[in-house]
Amino acid sequence: MNSIRFGKFFGISLELHYTFILLIVFMTVLIALIETRNFFSYMLLLVFLFASVFIHELCHSIVSVFLGIRVEKIILLPIGGISVAKEMPKKALHEFLISIAGPLFNFAIVLGISIIVVVFPEIPFPSREQILSVKDFSNAVLNYPLFALLYVNLMLGAFNLFVPALPLDGGRVLRSILSSLIGFNRATHISTKISLFFVIILGLIGYAIGNIILIIIAVFVFLGATGEDKIVIMKESLQGIKITHLINKKPFFLNSNITVKNAFEKFQEKNKLSALMEKQGKIFLLELDLLHELKKEKWSKIKAIKIAKALPVIQINLTADKAMEKLIKENTEVLPVFSGKKFIGVIEEKELLKRIELNKFK
Ligand code: ZN
Repeated sequence: MNSIRFGKFFGISLELHYTFILLIVFMTVLIALIETRNFFSYMLLLVFLFASVFIHELCHSIVSVFLGIRVEKIILLPIGGISVAKEMPKKALHEFLISIAGPLFNFAIVLGISIIVVVFPEIPFPSREQILSVKDFSNAVLNYPLFALLYVNLMLGAFNLFVPALPLDGGRVLRSILSSLIGFNRATHISTKISLFFVIILGLIGYAIGNIILIIIAVFVFLGATGEDKIVIMKESLQGIKITHLINKKPFFLNSNITVKNAFEKFQEKNKLSALMEKQGKIFLLELDLLHELKKEKWSKIKAIKIAKALPVIQINLTADKAMEKLIKENTEVLPVFSGKKFIGVIEEKELLKRIELNKFK
C-alpha cells in the first residue's frame, strides 16, 4: 500500500501518498528548526499550498465525472496532485474543459480575494508598494494570510496553464486545440515535441537559478510527455490489424470450483503466475498477487473464484489498436475474446507488444 485514503467524493477516492506524508513531516521539522519565528506563517502557507493543489485536482476530476469519464482516485504526491482516470477523454472539447477546470479554480480564488479586499478595505492586506518590492515581498506573504492564499493560487494557476507542456494542464489545453484541428494522434506527437522543448527550458532555468523543484518538475514533465506519446505510437502501429492471428486459443484455465490452496498448487505445478476461470459464461482472472493478499490459513477454505476478478470481454472483429486501448483502460494484461457468445481465446498484452516490435521493421 503506497497511499492512505482519507475520504471519498463523487465516487473518487482521495489519497495521500506516503512520500507526501514524509515530505510534510520533513518540512514541519525543518521549519520548526530554522524558521522558529515564522513557524505558523510557514505552516499556514504549506496548508494553503496543498489544499489549493488538492482542490485544483478535484476540479479536474469533477468535470471528468460530469462528462462521463470515471475517475478512480486523486493522490497527493510531493510534486503535486494527480488524478487517476479509468480512461482518456475521447473528445477534444472534453479534454479542453477538464484541463482548464483546475487552473480556473485557482484564478477564481485570486479573483475572489481581489474583490474581497477591494470591497472590504479594513481587511489586512499588504500595500501595492510592499507587493512590488523585492525586499518586502516575502514579508507580505508571511504576514498576510489572505495575500498568501492569493499568491499560492496565482502561481499554481499560471504555472499549470501557461507552460504548454504535457502532462501539465497547459500542454493538455494545447493538445486539445491541436486535436480538434489535426486529430488526436498528430496533436499528441506535436505536443510531445513542444513539451520536450519546454522540459529543456524548465531544466535550464532551474539549474541557472538553483531551483531543485523546477528540475524535478522538468523530469516529471519529461516522463509524462513521452509516456502519452508512446501509447499513441503503439496504437498507430496496431491500427487496422485483425486480432484473429494474435489470439491465444489455449489459455491456462482452472476449474472454477477449486480452493485458493489448490489453485496455488496448480500454479506451482504448471509454472504459471495467473490463470483464467469460467463461471456462468463469465471469464475471471486469478493472479498470484491476489492470492498473497489473503492470509495463508484461509487458502483451503476460500474458493479461488471468489478472489478472481471478472474480465471485460472483447469481440473478435475488434482491431488490435482497439484491443490495446482496452487493455490499457482496464489495466489488465489479458482480455477474453468472444465471437458472439462463444469464447474463442484470449488476447494478451505481450503478444501485441511483439507485433509492435515486428511492425518497426515493416
Ligand atoms: Zn491541473
